[in-house]
Amino acid sequence: MTMRSMQAKFIVFCNKNGPKILNLISPIWFLACILGLNWMAHDHIFDFLYTTESKVGQMARFLAWFMSAEMIINWIFLCTVRSTYRNTDENNKKRLEHEKTYPQLTSEGVAYEQLREQRPTLGTGNWSVVTQYTGSDVKRTAYPYWGWKPCVVCSFYRPPRCHHCPICEECVLKRDHHCFFARQCVGLNNQRFFVVFNFWAVMLTTFSIPQVLCYTKLSVWPNMVASELFLPWTIVRYVVGTSPAYTLLLVFQIYSLVFFVLTAGYFLHNQLTCIDQGLTSYEKENRDTSFTTTCKSRYERFACVFGRSQLWVNLFIPYHWASEPTDDGMTWQSMKKD
Ligand SMILES: [Zn+2]
Ligand SMILES: [Zn+2]
Repeated sequence: MTMRSMQAKFIVFCNKNGPKILNLISPIWFLACILGLNWMAHDHIFDFLYTTESKVGQMARFLAWFMSAEMIINWIFLCTVRSTYRNTDENNKKRLEHEKTYPQLTSEGVAYEQLREQRPTLGTGNWSVVTQYTGSDVKRTAYPYWGWKPCVVCSFYRPPRCHHCPICEECVLKRDHHCFFARQCVGLNNQRFFVVFNFWAVMLTTFSIPQVLCYTKLSVWPNMVASELFLPWTIVRYVVGTSPAYTLLLVFQIYSLVFFVLTAGYFLHNQLTCIDQGLTSYEKENRDTSFTTTCKSRYERFACVFGRSQLWVNLFIPYHWASEPTDDGMTWQSMKKD
């Protein structure tokens, strides 16, 4: 087997199985990190950094528990609250109403090649392209982004902003993206938990990193060799028996904390910007500038996701049952064409 064919096989394998593997490993990694961090903090780090009676030490212990609990609660809601679109008669009636109100947003579809010829400068955000394969034939049909369009996998019409997730194997209302750490799509009903989860992840990691580094420097570093800071090398050293398990866990935790603070920081910023502009991540990337949010105030724009309530309460209690998003996932009164 040549190098090139091995490489091609590896790429095909990654494309086919990569999402499934990530979906399996990511939540295990997240849970191992948060449990490992708490075990290290409460059994080793706090005892080393603070004296038993110190008020600062007690506060640090409380904050570590509290922020971890908030993260896990929001993660559980993020994993379990779905935004699946159901093909009911009532929803189909909504489609017909939508077509009457916005005849320009037809769900008939036009041949994609023809559309490209007529309008070569067409932005990708204005249209959704549905691809169908029959034998060796490929048929591409374009539908207005803000209209209803068929899902070829589920064999029904789905509302604007609803996208099919090949990993969740369902159509998801106001789909933002698939979150591997929650094995779930972030969409209409659970976006709020995703935002709050990222908020607490940023808080907890920012709080933990200086303490973990300080503890490592003062307590573990004197017994370490510099090369142990390079994780792959620490793994090799642990396997051959020259590094203790505790050093490996600590180095792994430091790498994970840096990864999580960067990832959660990116997503928190991305989500807050999207909500403030009334867009999903997909729409922000493939921006259709002809549609803008009609929500005048920032409060209204955040109510589309968090409901009409005191926003800060969401940070502490996931009370979605008492404060539903003002968006319904099918009709988009808050988005209007210029
Ligand atoms: Zn679908
Ligand atoms: Zn998904």
